Amino acid sequence: MTLLRTIDPSVDHALQAIVAGASLDPTCSTDLAAGPWDFDVRPGYGPGSSMGDVIPVGAPRQGELPAAYREADEDELDARIRAAKQALGDRAVVLGHFYQREEVVRHADYVGDSFQLANAALEHPDAEAIVFCGVHFMAETADLLSGPDQAVILPNLAAGCSMADMADIDQVEDCWEQLADVLGPLDTPDAEGLLPVVPVTYMNSSAAIKGFVGRHGGIVCTSSNAATVLEWAFARGRRVLFFPDQHLGRNTAKAMGVPLERMPMWNPRRPLGGSSADELRDAGVILWHGFCSVHRRFTVDQIAQARAEHPGVRVIVHPECPVEVVDAADEAGSTDYIRKAIAAATEPTTFAIGTEINLVRRLAAQHPQHEIFCLDPVVCPCSTMYRIHPGYLAWVLEELVDGRVQNRIRVADDVALPARVALEQMLAARPR
Ligand code: SF4
Repeated sequence: MTLLRTIDPSVDHALQAIVAGASLDPTCSTDLAAGPWDFDVRPGYGPGSSMGDVIPVGAPRQGELPAAYREADEDELDARIRAAKQALGDRAVVLGHFYQREEVVRHADYVGDSFQLANAALEHPDAEAIVFCGVHFMAETADLLSGPDQAVILPNLAAGCSMADMADIDQVEDCWEQLADVLGPLDTPDAEGLLPVVPVTYMNSSAAIKGFVGRHGGIVCTSSNAATVLEWAFARGRRVLFFPDQHLGRNTAKAMGVPLERMPMWNPRRPLGGSSADELRDAGVILWHGFCSVHRRFTVDQIAQARAEHPGVRVIVHPECPVEVVDAADEAGSTDYIRKAIAAATEPTTFAIGTEINLVRRLAAQHPQHEIFCLDPVVCPCSTMYRIHPGYLAWVLEELVDGRVQNRIRVADDVALPARVALEQMLAARPR
């Protein structure tokens, strides 16, 4: 299979700058111009923000899309998706993540973050199929929360999340055993009723990790409720093991008063995660060595440049950004927070935003009274999300019309039961 070097007309216009050579950064590549079905068979997440990340050996691969979809242009795919959706009616609901490309999002019945979309699926208990235009862990979460007869479909199986893949269940089980060697039996509370460590996982993790957390008295969090969830965990344990995103864990715990020196990192490739036994005993939060390749790109220098070029600019970044970036910004918050902050601004304002480019561009289009731009001058999207090309969406929808379910994501019962417990703990956790 050859890679196309000409600009694919279906590629989001936001990426044309990469194609035109604006990208000098090693974490982006002009290969994004290639048809997405070309790079799915290569070992890697695909060109873009996560292209330098190591893909796990067992990551799903997508088979080749039929030629009718590979050869169709954007207008034809658009028309086929509309026709298939109309034929399916209420039998299928299409969900689109905030970071998804425009050519796909325009067909979504709901647009939101991963948890909002899983909840949107709950509003359609009679839909036979939930087509999730996001990444693998999101489809798993929708499967956990949807009815047993509903099929959750991920249009491209290779649309994983490099951050979620950084916490592998075998590595997490191994970490737990090592922590038990240092801290004693981990499932036994002390005289004050506190566990030695409470595991907390970000929504951006596999169902296997959510299941692990549920089996060990832990909980799931989102970027919107991380502080509430950490409070819940501190009320039940001496310390927290937080995965997979070190930055969300660090930023949230720091804002709650946990000193940085009491947040050792757990690198799964090193004995005791690279920390000493004393550091682990003294820890308030043990941070898993994971990160989002999109949000890791934002820097303090970019903020300084935005302030120099746009006096009075309001800088808002996502809490998956490094701690020094969050400290330098005016505000930090989830995608939902960012959207609401912009919507609530009554005066024309200049916003510099530190999150994924597709969302920033959509916000800029929705709020022309404001100047809204991405802090990162190189438009580098979430490459894993980008794999949901409209060709895949057209394919799974037309297959549904013909009575065939492709790319169904199922979580096995032995994982699903404890994973649901961890999700229910999150839903029940309330701010103090
Ligand atoms: S933006 Fe980051 S955390 Fe979200 S899906 Fe992409 S790689 Fe994963």
